[in-house]
Amino acid sequence: MTVKAMSAQRVFDGERFHIDAAVVWNDQTIVDIVPKSELSGTVPCTDFADKLIAPGFIDLQVNGGGDVMFNSDTSVEGIDMICRAHRKHGTAYLLPTLISASPQQMKQALLAAEQAIEGQVRGVLGVHLEGPWLNKNKKGAHDADKFYSPSVTQLEAFPWLNNGVNFVTLAAENMAPESLQWLRDHDVVVSCGHSNATSDSLPDSKLKLVNGFTHLFNAMSPLEGREPGVVGTALMTDHAWCSIIVDGIHVAPQNVHLAKRVKPDNKLLIVTDAMASVGSVTNRFVLDGEEISVQDGRLVNSQGALAGAHIGMDQSVANVIEWGFDEAEALRMASTYPALALNLSELGLIKPGYHAAATVLNSDYSAHAVMVDGEIL
Ligand SMILES: [Zn+2]
Repeated sequence: MTVKAMSAQRVFDGERFHIDAAVVWNDQTIVDIVPKSELSGTVPCTDFADKLIAPGFIDLQVNGGGDVMFNSDTSVEGIDMICRAHRKHGTAYLLPTLISASPQQMKQALLAAEQAIEGQVRGVLGVHLEGPWLNKNKKGAHDADKFYSPSVTQLEAFPWLNNGVNFVTLAAENMAPESLQWLRDHDVVVSCGHSNATSDSLPDSKLKLVNGFTHLFNAMSPLEGREPGVVGTALMTDHAWCSIIVDGIHVAPQNVHLAKRVKPDNKLLIVTDAMASVGSVTNRFVLDGEEISVQDGRLVNSQGALAGAHIGMDQSVANVIEWGFDEAEALRMASTYPALALNLSELGLIKPGYHAAATVLNSDYSAHAVMVDGEIL
């Protein structure tokens, strides 16, 4: 028995707030939330005083952090560095995200993620392959020379994770129906993104195989009067969640509110799309041989085009609250909803039986500490 506790002025369990409360866990499992005054004196307790304890943040799209780009370092150590950098911004768990790469590098990324999980690297849930099964007309910062449409045989050749989340972003209009079906049959989470689809090229037969949409509004065909585009389709497909970048640069705050009004409960969630510059000392890195740097808070390539985001989860939550979102909803968009999107039934809430994870926030929502797998880090 290794029962421990942490207490704070406010604990948000994912549904409601508890005042002057303590979270109690045993090893890696939440046992209870109790009034601070009722906590047994024999349980070692870390008191976070006037802070807020919330469910651990989960980021489905992290390209890098702490001067490490996953594309440049598909190793267990690289994944660990990225997780450590993002813990400073409140992220308990994340999916290291590989920007369109060669099949060989994709295999390496999958193997490294599997090894990281088996080696109990704190904070890694699996892997996100963002491309290369994308539409060249919505390539963003990706190298379109790497794009292709995979056959079932090609999909079968990848060393998909046995013990973690397999997550792909793809342009569904460019995928053969049998390839999409193969991904569904093998529990790969499918998110449509970097897509130039029309409503004709994204029929219901394909939409039903799509779990969500990647960085809503960015790198997807826009909503127009006679053509809903991917934006309109993403907003109107109730079963599918949408991830969204809330740095105030990629998407106008009004459009984040629009998405919130249209999407059903649970279906709009925050991702950072963060690059190596988060938690970095240099504010610059190289992607596909091109230097990307932070200029006025924007990550841009040599042509001045946006190339990912320079933001952590904590600042993302602070932003949407500043834009008028309900505090509880903002916290759920960073924890509960991403857990639901990945079908992780033990994460996303601070409730008895759930995995022991939490994010501790200062009054301005900057991260103070993170608990991962029962350890306060
Ligand atoms: Zn992208």
